[in-house]
Amino acid sequence: MRWQAFDYHYEHGQEYGITAMNITSATFLKSVIRIEECPRDGRPEIAFVGRSNVGKSSLLNALLNRKGLAKTSTTPGKTQMINFFDVNRRFYFVDLPGYGYAKVPKGVKSEWSRVMTAYLRHREPLKLVVQLLDARHTPSDKDHEMLELLRRARVPVLLAATKIDKLSRNERTRNLKAIRADLDLDDDAVIIPFSAVTAEGVKPLWEIIAPCLKSPT
Ligand code: GDP
Repeated sequence: MRWQAFDYHYEHGQEYGITAMNITSATFLKSVIRIEECPRDGRPEIAFVGRSNVGKSSLLNALLNRKGLAKTSTTPGKTQMINFFDVNRRFYFVDLPGYGYAKVPKGVKSEWSRVMTAYLRHREPLKLVVQLLDARHTPSDKDHEMLELLRRARVPVLLAATKIDKLSRNERTRNLKAIRADLDLDDDAVIIPFSAVTAEGVKPLWEIIAPCLKSPT
């Protein structure tokens, strides 16, 4: 499996009004259920995906330095919509629906999978997908399926291991290694250890996201 290796061109962050924490504006734009409803202004976008409850809302809020912007869910999987956030009036963060929630009916699941596939394959402004994995567990079948979908769609992928604060030093090393092995990652593939509690990983994520916003379409 070929993985995108990322260079750290941090200076590009300045052009997009980003330093690690310099978010001048971050607002919810809209939720869509059909690809045709996505913004058409050509601004670049970064999407975030992961199973329900992985910590996606918390990560988005931490990256954008806005406490309640992305709703921290009480009912996992309740939203099947693609949520757009306008950041610095320059680009979008896209919160993709959480997967792997058992109580979602079959029909909804297949519709979800159709919309996600269409989005990932054909969404031209999409520059990078950040896939979130829970640092405490080996990736689930659903995580594997998602990664496979991303690989087939040929979108650059960055992995983030969430809730890293819940692990001891030893567990952390062991689990990150196990995740790499389980997903059969190349040596140059990056997994960013992340915690919304300690803010570990915020800066490294921005260091990778910022240059992606600048890459040609
Ligand atoms: P989502 O369903 O993927 O959007 O997940 P949420 O952001 O709503 O988080 C799910 C649960 O995990 C909530 O109870 C959060 O408080 C908790 N959580 C999320 N991120 C972290 C983290 O980095 N560390 C810890 N300890 N808990 C977290």
